[in-house]
Amino acid sequence: MSITWKDDPLPSVTQSARSGDHATTHANPAARALADSIPRLPLAGDAPTPVEELGRLREALGMRARLLVKRDDALTFGAGGNKVRKLEVIASRATADGADTLVTTGGVQSNHARVTAAAAARLGVECILVVNGEPPARLTGNALLMQLFGAKMEYVATRQERTPRVEQVIDRLHAEGRRPYAIPLGASTPVGALGYVRAIGELLAQIPAPDVIIHSSSSGGTQAGLIAGCALFGLHTKVIGVSPDDPSDAIAGYVKPILSGLESELKVTAGTFASCDITVDDRFVGGGYGIPSDASREAIELTARNEGLLLDPVYSAKAMAALIAYARAGELDAHETVLFWHTGGVPGLFA
Ligand SMILES: *Cc1c(COP(=O)(O)O)cnc(C)c1O
Repeated sequence: MSITWKDDPLPSVTQSARSGDHATTHANPAARALADSIPRLPLAGDAPTPVEELGRLREALGMRARLLVKRDDALTFGAGGNKVRKLEVIASRATADGADTLVTTGGVQSNHARVTAAAAARLGVECILVVNGEPPARLTGNALLMQLFGAKMEYVATRQERTPRVEQVIDRLHAEGRRPYAIPLGASTPVGALGYVRAIGELLAQIPAPDVIIHSSSSGGTQAGLIAGCALFGLHTKVIGVSPDDPSDAIAGYVKPILSGLESELKVTAGTFASCDITVDDRFVGGGYGIPSDASREAIELTARNEGLLLDPVYSAKAMAALIAYARAGELDAHETVLFWHTGGVPGLFA
């Protein structure tokens, strides 16, 4: 059974997912075989994350385009979010490598560090997190979860000290005869980004390709994976990354080398993704990383009150603020389908 909304002329997502129309429209067996063959440890199992209609939010915004959400906040593993998809691929490499310790870095409230800690717990290996900031007096949000997952924390004062400290930790572990596996900031490597190439295959088994995907983009792995996935499947979908921190040029500069690294990971011809558009919007950063803006507060409230859907204050709220601004400016065409890719981070609401 599917719910149909009053005065909503659109077919429900469940219906279109069941009909299988898209499966023929977007049949691309070679791309599908490639996307499905990406080795991963399915930390969150094999169920696709839901795609849902945001009918009431759409109405509240006076939007004529169809508005959908891909619920990666609802990935079941370790409180979910986009880092789960990246870690599924990276964890498979770490295991093949015989790693006995995962080492990574991030801020005190890093979603990436939280998911890495959960992955280490699941694999039965140790986790050392190099975290910049003050050790919190009271553990909340992601910091609380990292500790619950059993990670060992090493605090450094500044962002600049993170990478040298990770290197020291790796050297120390090697000297102790251990097998550490270092995961860069945000797991934004070509290997991590493969998780989002795969995710495009997952999406296309649920709905026809959307016209626009809007998501939060910071260290670039998610956006690189989405762009490569769309190119691989021959889609004309426009992928818009919304920055929570850095200028557009900087983030596009992170995405580009990951995209070219994906060419060798996927064993496609060098240069295949070189002409892909990398669109990053940095107009919604506000006061900076983790600092709420009027627009991001409004995005959290509108989404919660109209849909019962939670956004995180650092990433997805700013991405939704962008979507709201585009809708109000009439930049989303009536005939288009706009997909908000929810990247998770909801524990940050409780920090
Ligand atoms: C890390 C993160 C992002 C950014 O993803 P990147 O792949 O680093 O660009 C977006 N949203 C949330 C909730 C995150 O934790």
